[in-house]
Amino acid sequence: MGRGRRAPAAGRIVPPEPTVVDLHAHTCRSDGLLEPSALVAAAAAAGVRTLAITDHDTLSGYRDLVAPGAGPLPPGLDVLPGVEINAMAGGLNLPDGELHVVGLGVDPADVAFEAALAEQRERRRRRFERMAARLRAAGLGVDAQLAGLDLTRDDALGRPTLARALVAAGFATSVQDAFARFVGRGGPGYVPREGLGPVEAIRAIRGAGGIPVLAHFSVAPSRRVLLRELMNAGLVGLEVHHRSFDAATVAAVGAVARDLGLLPSGGTDYHGDDETYAEAIGETWVPPEIAAGVLAALQVGVVA
Ligand SMILES: [Zn+2]
Ligand SMILES: [Zn+2]
Repeated sequence: MGRGRRAPAAGRIVPPEPTVVDLHAHTCRSDGLLEPSALVAAAAAAGVRTLAITDHDTLSGYRDLVAPGAGPLPPGLDVLPGVEINAMAGGLNLPDGELHVVGLGVDPADVAFEAALAEQRERRRRRFERMAARLRAAGLGVDAQLAGLDLTRDDALGRPTLARALVAAGFATSVQDAFARFVGRGGPGYVPREGLGPVEAIRAIRGAGGIPVLAHFSVAPSRRVLLRELMNAGLVGLEVHHRSFDAATVAAVGAVARDLGLLPSGGTDYHGDDETYAEAIGETWVPPEIAAGVLAALQVGVVA
């Protein structure tokens, strides 16, 4: 989604007790800022007990954490492998033309899934380069700011990277400002995304043994027909709890999940631009039973 990930102050949720579940978080393996090890440390320190790392188009953060010699995970913290696929949804009349599908519990060793993600990353890299060229042509060059990045790394480059470079170059006052004026849809640096559609993303996640969850879909109450179509394609879950949702949105999206029989999920969608992890989890409420439901679905192989 865009960068406005927090609910407006008036409707912001105050967790009734410390939140111990976060099934949506990013690291610097995609467009977040923290190293995977720093994210799990911050989550554990904040009292989280179930964390899904859901970087865009890559499982490398999770793989690094469990690699031989990586050291133990913080005690008391379960880490789930996850991914987020920004699926192309042209023609569906959606903001930004995308549906974001989070895959929870995908098998990091699934070869076909990794191949699909690698293709996504390659498309992402090409888009990134085209956007940097468009910014350059518009007099908003950020090549000096990007020079320190290793663009050949296995990272999923994203618009936030360009937005941060625009801030560093003095063209924008914040990442949000950079999105609004330069790299958001219609901006001088914008290039449309290419890649998997929502049905393909859902099938790829199912094929890797994961639970596909539609993320931060606040318009769910008015898009039930679309949700049913996606369920027919294999969609299992709906993000009912998200840091950008106010209480009314949580209630409305939760009612849709109950009506349609979608598994509720939720998380911070933490990236690290605006606040610490502790602050982000402190204003996100994900009930403990959300993790129980997702883990149970993975265990009984609902999605096998
Ligand atoms: Zn998203
Ligand atoms: Zn996300």
